[in-house]
Amino acid sequence: MTDLLRPLRAADIETWDFEADVVIAGFGIAGACAAIEAARAGTDVLVLERAGGWGGAAALAGGFIYLGGGTALQQACGFEDSVEEMTKFLTAALGPGVDEAKIDEYCQGSVAHYDWLVDAGVPFKMSYWGEPGYEPPFDDGLMYSGGENAAPFNAIAKPAPRGHVPQMSDKRTGEKGGGYMLMKPLSNTAAELGVRAEYDMRAQRLIIDVDADGVDRVVGIVAKRYGADVTVRARRGVVLATGSFAYNDDMMRRFAPRLLGKPAASVEEHDGRAIRMAQALGADLAHMDATEVAFFCDPQLFYRGILVNGRGQRFVPEDTYSGRVGQLMLLQNEGQCFLIIDEASFEEGMAGTSSSPQLKIQPRWVCESVAELEAEIGLAEGALTSTVDLYNRHAVNGQDPLLGKKTEWVKPIGGPVAAIDLRGMAGGFTLGGLLTDTDSRVIHVDGSPIPGLFAAGRCTSGLSAWGYASGVSLGDGSFFGRRAGVSAAQA
Ligand SMILES: Cc1cc2nc3c(=O)[nH]c(=O)nc-3n(C[C@H](O)[C@H](O)[C@H](O)COP(=O)(O)OP(=O)(O)OC[C@H]3O[C@@H](n4cnc5c(N)ncnc54)[C@H](O)[C@@H]3O)c2cc1C
Repeated sequence: MTDLLRPLRAADIETWDFEADVVIAGFGIAGACAAIEAARAGTDVLVLERAGGWGGAAALAGGFIYLGGGTALQQACGFEDSVEEMTKFLTAALGPGVDEAKIDEYCQGSVAHYDWLVDAGVPFKMSYWGEPGYEPPFDDGLMYSGGENAAPFNAIAKPAPRGHVPQMSDKRTGEKGGGYMLMKPLSNTAAELGVRAEYDMRAQRLIIDVDADGVDRVVGIVAKRYGADVTVRARRGVVLATGSFAYNDDMMRRFAPRLLGKPAASVEEHDGRAIRMAQALGADLAHMDATEVAFFCDPQLFYRGILVNGRGQRFVPEDTYSGRVGQLMLLQNEGQCFLIIDEASFEEGMAGTSSSPQLKIQPRWVCESVAELEAEIGLAEGALTSTVDLYNRHAVNGQDPLLGKKTEWVKPIGGPVAAIDLRGMAGGFTLGGLLTDTDSRVIHVDGSPIPGLFAAGRCTSGLSAWGYASGVSLGDGSFFGRRAGVSAAQA
């Protein structure tokens, strides 16, 4: 830690360049939602954004927002859901070690949060997309996004699709997704409420003062703009909403090394600075090793075959959420993975409609028999043949007693048979960060909230403790971003 990270004392500030009641660092999803709520609470709000405009990773995102419990969109598409089933699913799928209080509040507030987003102008088309895929390829609003209807979760909680996607036509994954249609109306709403934004402002360190109880209180931020220090006073509170540490190699090496050097589903501004700034004041952390892991193969293909690790063994029901496949592959199977698929299923998968046709990868090996394929790949003799024998023995009856893949996707593997080389085909973003409570107050290592300091989004640990479901990041970022705005306004 250098002196440039440690908090400055307010008494040492000669002039304040900017002032507001609530000062928010970061104009992505968490910052936008915090700004709207703080402004609606009647406070004067200033957002400092490092980039040249609002948006952050959120504006590039596919746009899944994880919501449920019976939203208007779920109901319009004919799906029943409840707070209890959503809570059961998230507790199992995002763990082990979830913050139960956060999961409870999030699930209880989910229907109202959907209505809040709609009220703020976020458009959702009342239609469901049911094909395997990363996201709806067209503008449909609802999809399964976390493996709710796959083993083991379909036996833990009654499945319902909860991936809500803002309506957007002519999508391009990673460039022009539903996340833009989330951020655009939110930033418009913030502007209409009188929220001010200053761009090219990079929050660098906190400013503190001693409150009436003799405790350090956060009263501002020092930011850098075009190389010069800028001081910003926060009369009520500071909200940190600057995103993850996915682009800080040193932090990645220390906390999430398996993702180091992998393509990050993030933006370069995510350098972990806010985490370090708050740590310098004694903030606690949680789940710094938790990561979302995208798996780079089209689900239209891998649902139709079997995925095996470097020992030729299956490790996941293939009809599940692709991010779960990615996590189990990278974090538990040394990044080793081959898709074994016969010709007929490969052709079907290639013809399937998809949001990610670029991930319809060609086989590396094609053979007449599994024994030949096993030798070509270089697997131990008998390893893949015994896996396929076992799979086929039950597949003739449409069963998968080993991993519980659903009957509709279970089919014996015939010949010719191919292997698609998926070793290391993964990347993602970090989910751990500052420890916050359900009011988005940043918690000190002594267990008490740090006065005047609030945070939300990926600079905090939100709902995910290890597992992930698509939409949880924009979901908890927006939900607890709103809480941060309310809390800072009341501080
Ligand atoms: C291609 C892609 C697809 C994705 N799809 C989904 C999805 O479908 N569903 C989902 O839930 N998540 C998705 N994500 C992840 C999601 O976008 C992020 O996790 C989420 O936006 C994090 O919210 P945030 O508010 O913390 O960060 P952001 O939305 O990135 O906002 C942070 C803002 O802070 C700014 N900033 C950074 N440092 C500073 C600083 N020092 N001072 C001032 N400002 C600063 C950044 O420039 C940025 O504008 C996707 C991400 C990508 C890249």
